[in-house]
Amino acid sequence: MSEPDPAMQRALAVLEADRALARRVSDAAEVLVGATQVTLLAHVDPDADALGSALALGIALRRRGAEVEVSFASPDRVPESLAALDVLGLVVAPDAVSAAPEVLVSCDAAEPARLGSLARLLDTAGCTVMLDHHGTNPGFGEIQVLDPAAEATVVLAHRVLVEMGARLDADVARCLYAGLVTDTRGFRTAGADAHRLAAELVEAGAQPAVLARALMDEHPFAWFAGLSAALGRAVLEPTGLVHTTIPLEDVRRFRPEEIDSVVDVLRTAQEAEVAAVLKQVAPARFVVSLRSTGRVDVAAAATALGGGGHRAAAGFTREGTEQEVLAGIRAALV
Ligand code: 5GP
Ligand code: MN
Repeated sequence: MSEPDPAMQRALAVLEADRALARRVSDAAEVLVGATQVTLLAHVDPDADALGSALALGIALRRRGAEVEVSFASPDRVPESLAALDVLGLVVAPDAVSAAPEVLVSCDAAEPARLGSLARLLDTAGCTVMLDHHGTNPGFGEIQVLDPAAEATVVLAHRVLVEMGARLDADVARCLYAGLVTDTRGFRTAGADAHRLAAELVEAGAQPAVLARALMDEHPFAWFAGLSAALGRAVLEPTGLVHTTIPLEDVRRFRPEEIDSVVDVLRTAQEAEVAAVLKQVAPARFVVSLRSTGRVDVAAAATALGGGGHRAAAGFTREGTEQEVLAGIRAALV
C-alpha cells in the first residue's frame, strides 16, 4: 500500500489535535461543573486576558453556586483598568487563597513560574486545569487546555463555558471581550472565529467602545511626560532593534497600564524588526517586553533568556545592568 501523501498526513494531524483539544475542553468543563470550590489564578502582573479568563469562569461558577476565589501573586492590587471586571468581588489577596483548592485553574500562565508564589498550589490542589495559548508552554496540570492557535486564553475560557452550559451574561461577556480585544491588539491579529466570538460577546452586553477606552486608550495626563522621556531615550540599532528603558523611579511613579503601553509605541518604528522595553524593577533587575514586527521569532529569544511567550510578543526577567541585559537581547536575536 502506498504512503499517505504529506498534505493528507498534516491534515490528519491537525484533525487529531483538534479532537484532543475538544476532549480536554470537555474534561475541564466536567471537572468545573462538579466542583464545589474553585480557585482561579492569573499570572503575575495580570493583563486583561489572564484576569478576564479567571473572572469570566469565576463569575459563571459563582452563579452556579460554587465557592470561588480569583487571585494572582503580584502586584498587591487589581490593575485599575481591570477593576471593573470583578463585579462579584471575587479577587482575594494571595495570602488569603485556600491552601489546598479542590480545583485550581491556571489562566494564561505560560509556565508555573508565571504564577509566582502561587505556583505552590499546583502541588496541593485536588485537580489543576491549565488554560493557555503560549507556544512556549511546556505543559503542566492534570487537564491541559493548551492551544497556541488561540488568539487569547479567553477564547479557551469561552469554549469551556459553552461546554459547561453556562449562560453568557453581560458580566461574563465583558471579561471575555477584555481579553480578546487586548490580546489581538484591537482585533488586528484576530481570525474569523475570534471576530464571530466578539459579535457574540457584544450581543451578550460587552460594550466595545467603553472597554477599549478603559483598557487601551486612556492614560493619566501626567503620563505624557513619562512617555515623552521613554521615547526620547529610545535607540534604533542598525540591526532593527529599537529599545528603551524605563527607570525604577518611573516604574514606581506610573501605573503598570502606562509602563506596559510603551512597547506598543516603540514597535511602530518603521525601521523596527524588534522592539524591546526594559522595565527596571530593582537596581539590577529588569522585566523585558519584546515585540516582533513580523520576521523575527521573539518567543525563541525570550526563551533563550529564561522567559517565553508568543512569536510576536514575548518577555523575560533578568538580573544585571541595563547594558548586560541589552547584550543578552542582541545575542539572543542573532
Ligand atoms: P508582556 O511583554 O506583555 O509582559 O509579555 C508578552 C508575552 O510574553 C505574554 O504573552 C506573556 O505571557 C509572555 N511572557 C512575559 N514574560 C514571560 C516570562 O517570564 N516567561 C514566560 N514563559 N512568558 C512570559
Ligand atoms: Mn494571553
